[in-house]
Amino acid sequence: MSFDVNTLYSASVLVLGLVGVLLLWAWLQSRHSNALVWWAFAFIVSTIGVVLLSDWDILPDLWSVEVALTLIVVGHGLIWAGVRSFAGKPVPWFGILIGAIVWMIAYQTQAVEESTTDRVVIMALLSIIYSALTAFELIRQGGFAMRSGRAAVGLLVLHIVMLLLRIPVARQLPFPFQDETADPHMALLTIEPMLFAVAIGFVLLTLTRERDEAIEHAAASTDPLTGVLNRRGFFDAAEKLRRRAGRHKHPVAALLLDIDHFKVVNDTYGHAAGDAVLERFAAGVRETLRLHDVFGRIGGEEFAIVFAEGDQEQVGALAERIRKRIEAQPIDWRNTEIAITTSVGVAVDPRPTLTVEALLEAADRALYEAKRRGRNQVVVANTAARTIDKPAGGPVPDDQIDLRDTSGTSLS
Ligand code: GH3
Ligand code: MG
Ligand code: MG
Repeated sequence: MSFDVNTLYSASVLVLGLVGVLLLWAWLQSRHSNALVWWAFAFIVSTIGVVLLSDWDILPDLWSVEVALTLIVVGHGLIWAGVRSFAGKPVPWFGILIGAIVWMIAYQTQAVEESTTDRVVIMALLSIIYSALTAFELIRQGGFAMRSGRAAVGLLVLHIVMLLLRIPVARQLPFPFQDETADPHMALLTIEPMLFAVAIGFVLLTLTRERDEAIEHAAASTDPLTGVLNRRGFFDAAEKLRRRAGRHKHPVAALLLDIDHFKVVNDTYGHAAGDAVLERFAAGVRETLRLHDVFGRIGGEEFAIVFAEGDQEQVGALAERIRKRIEAQPIDWRNTEIAITTSVGVAVDPRPTLTVEALLEAADRALYEAKRRGRNQVVVANTAARTIDKPAGGPVPDDQIDLRDTSGTSLS
């Protein structure tokens, strides 16, 4: 198979330019990701570079070689800059320009100016450095957690391998070109970048889409007042945790917390004070939990926690720690101290066999019992209900709360 050099260059120009325009167009649709602009310019700058490069027979070397290759190096730097911008990092101006500067200095040496092979090698090395930086930046930002992030890193690694192959291939090429039919090796220099451009352009676009979706999903599952999961987010996350626990036969525990006499806070200090109390309450509880515990606001002043733990003593102790902390830290609101307490219903499913809803129903019955017994206390629902450290002191009758009893009847 033979390739016509001019056709290869024209195709490269069209493909790179098209990817650049498409990225710019994607940015215009939803202007919140500036990374798309960086990437679009990376392709547009590279396109101009290839246009100059392809006119080597009519343009002086200053334009068709020095400026052309400078633009292509800058294009690689801009892809890297885009990935940094994607992470909200500052623009690495020096980093973008250093590659171009290195190239221009190298070009001043007679050997490089006279040898196309040396130029190909230097360009390959600079492109490898920028591609590696881009891949490294993606990995560092946790891009591996996203499907498109993994695809982008994979493509960059493949591109690096192809760039490495250029080094031995450069020696095979019949530079300078005598006729317009190029050596098949020329395909590596032109077709590979074309395919890479299309693939990486597409993947970078899906990367921004994937992140936008993740942000939207997070917003839809977050309670705007407290910043913790809302009801929907809580049940989604709790269900996931429950499924994982079910697979590994790990126990699951649920805590249901309801602020005591919260209506009084609203009535006494106003709704804004009530909101502040909810915010600080949620923050206080969050601090007592581990990162992977599922915590959400499932009602007005009702919060729930689900986590993988089966030891009733430990779960009860955690609930008690939370209760004590809330009791001990009155909320400072406009120089007024608002003291609040919370009642906690606890349910533990050791096997686990219950759905999240059923487990929370059991916790709700325990919570009801805690309210009935005078509030500001923890009641553990299991085969037997117990009160832990009832602040008033004194023995508490062991009310029988059946985990599987969903009739919702009074427990007293
Ligand atoms: P109990 O000890 O039995 O739990 O009594 P309570 O007053 O806490 O419970 P009740 O269910 O009677 O009242 C809950 C109140 O919470 C009523 C409602 O106005 C208030 N509330 C619900 N959501 C919000 C909110 O987002 N902000 C504020 N400030 N108040 C809220
Ligand atoms: Mg309440
Ligand atoms: Mg309530």
